[in-house]
Amino acid sequence: MKIVVLVGGVGGARFLLGVKTALGLPAIGAGESPHEITALVNTGDDVWMHGLRICPDLDTCMYTLGGGIDTERGWGHAGETWTVKEELAAYGAEPTWFGLGDKDIATHLIRSRMLRAGYPLSAVTEALCDRWQPGVRLLPMSDDRVETHVVIDDPENPEQQKAVHFQEWWVRYRAGLPAHSIVAVGNDEAKPGPGVLDALAEADVVLLAPSNPVVSVGTTLGVPGVRDALRKSRAKVVGVSPIIGGKALRGMADACLTAIGVETSAEAVGRHYGARSEGGVLDGWLVAPEDHEVTVPGVDVRAVPLLMSDVDATADMVRAALDVAGVSLG
Ligand code: GDP
Ligand code: CA
Repeated sequence: MKIVVLVGGVGGARFLLGVKTALGLPAIGAGESPHEITALVNTGDDVWMHGLRICPDLDTCMYTLGGGIDTERGWGHAGETWTVKEELAAYGAEPTWFGLGDKDIATHLIRSRMLRAGYPLSAVTEALCDRWQPGVRLLPMSDDRVETHVVIDDPENPEQQKAVHFQEWWVRYRAGLPAHSIVAVGNDEAKPGPGVLDALAEADVVLLAPSNPVVSVGTTLGVPGVRDALRKSRAKVVGVSPIIGGKALRGMADACLTAIGVETSAEAVGRHYGARSEGGVLDGWLVAPEDHEVTVPGVDVRAVPLLMSDVDATADMVRAALDVAGVSLG
């Protein structure tokens, strides 16, 4: 079976651990399996800092699936040290609000060097994954530069608005400054990364991870051609709600939904994605038991526990999604 999953960072990576487990692969690392998992990873959070290209969602997936993640923090390396960050701060080198660990910097150095030598991000990602062996094919949604920006009231000059990089809004301001709008700069001109459209065309099932519907899954769906390929795919498309009982888990997705005028509820997000039969992308939508009354016209809505508390609970979610899609692991 070929399974394609649209993912962001932390929520996407956790979900992929469950996909691997449901398909009989070890959650961490690579293994033998007749099945093939491809993740289409959001790159709208990517940013240049200190001359380094940082790809938060790709790295979170790579480290999590390869066994290198700091499980408590949820991002970056386990056993990280912060010497370079402290030295940069001592020079007063901005930005100082971004967590840049020493081990992580090695990843960014290799990536930046390869990009400067002319390799596309997809090739760089493949090279980095050689070490981490995530057991999932991680495909950047695009090799082109797409960067999500957020329009806020300028904290220094409240009369004015300004656009800041998504990372600045998310990490520095903890999404606490109301977003007037969210714009993925470059999305309209981006081409899908190598393998992205083929993966969708050949998929037996497509899952939307419970990742941020606006700045993770939404950005990938915004790459011209991706939404169409997904809509044309012979595979069923099943989404998993990141919202449970009106709340976003572990995160600030509600601030992103509010910015695009979508209510923070499983029903509103399901309707935002919409039914494939009505111009949207979904055939099925998994919601949590407390949201069992949710309806999305044209979509098979199923209520199952959606807390990714551990790998087995997450694998159960994935099995439910495959069941809604009508595919069996044979
Ligand atoms: P990010 O790129 O690191 O922000 O991560 P993602 O976009 O992949 O995922 C963030 C989303 O995951 C948030 O909107 C959360 O609501 C959702 N999420 C986190 N933990 C859980 C969980 O246990 N269950 C569900 N259903 N959603 C979750
Ligand atoms: Ca992200």
